Parts: sequence; structure tokens; C-alpha cells
Amino acid sequence: MTQTQNGKQKQERFYQILDEVKDPEIPVISIVEMGMVHQITVEERIIWIQVMPTFLGCPALEMIERSIRERMLEEPDMDEVFVEFIRDPLWSSERITPIGREKLAGFGLATPSIDRLDQVECPYCQSSGTNLVNLFGSTACRSIYYCRSCKEPFEAMKPI
Ligand SMILES: [Zn+2]
Repeated sequence: MTQTQNGKQKQERFYQILDEVKDPEIPVISIVEMGMVHQITVEERIIWIQVMPTFLGCPALEMIERSIRERMLEEPDMDEVFVEFIRDPLWSSERITPIGREKLAGFGLATPSIDRLDQVECPYCQSSGTNLVNLFGSTACRSIYYCRSCKEPFEAMKPI
């Protein structure tokens, strides 16, 4: 096996592991599905993971860092795990994977659509006839919307 193939398999394995690390605020979705993992660098028995925080000021970063470290250090041949939060490039909601979007909708949390960031679809009935009623939802990352079709209020992630 060539060095490159070996490295690629390792990377895939690490992405699978990170897929087990959930977003503490939205426990149905992993940090991979949220598109938060920017880069994984492996050097011998040390790994560096660059993570893009989804929202500035979300108090979940410490928990994410701890979960990543704990889970990664369970792997054999792993001496140290470094988690670095980067803001360049900046995470945007476009990075959420299609599976991630589905899971968020199942959780009753809308994500801004990829082509129309100002348009938010109702996670219950998929209607686009929704109104913003409150910019601040249960966390700083979310806003509250109201669906005119099914008359349900719901939360949506703020587009950034
Ligand atoms: Zn609806």
C-alpha cells in the first residue's frame, strides 16, 4: 500500500470518528454533518483537527473540544490530539451536508436554504410562507419563525 492510500484511509477513519461527535446544542447532528471540520492533519502519533465554530459566542465549543479529544484518544497509536477553532475561513450554513439538513428538519429546526438565504422553509410542512417573529430564539444562534400554512412556530438557524 502506498503512503498516500494509507493516509487517505486514515483520514476517512478520522472523519467517521468525528461523525460520532455530536453538536451539544443539537444532539441529533454531528460536527461533520454540520460541516464544521475544516482539516485533519496527522503526523505520526499526533493529530491536529481544525474546527470551524458555527456561531461566535455559542458556549458549546469547550464541550466539542473535549468530546473530540476523548473520542480520538481512544484510538490506538494516538499520543496527542489538538483541536483548533478557526474563523478563517468562516463557517457558513451552506456547509451543512444534505443529511445534516434532513436531520435538523426532523429535529424541528429549519436551516436557511442554500440558494435563498433569506427564505426559511417550515421544517414541518416545507412551506416557504413563513415569517420571522423573533430574532432571538432559545440560543443566540436561532430565530423564531411562524409558518402561515400549518400555523406552527418553529426555530431556525440564523443564516451566516
Ligand atoms: Zn408549516
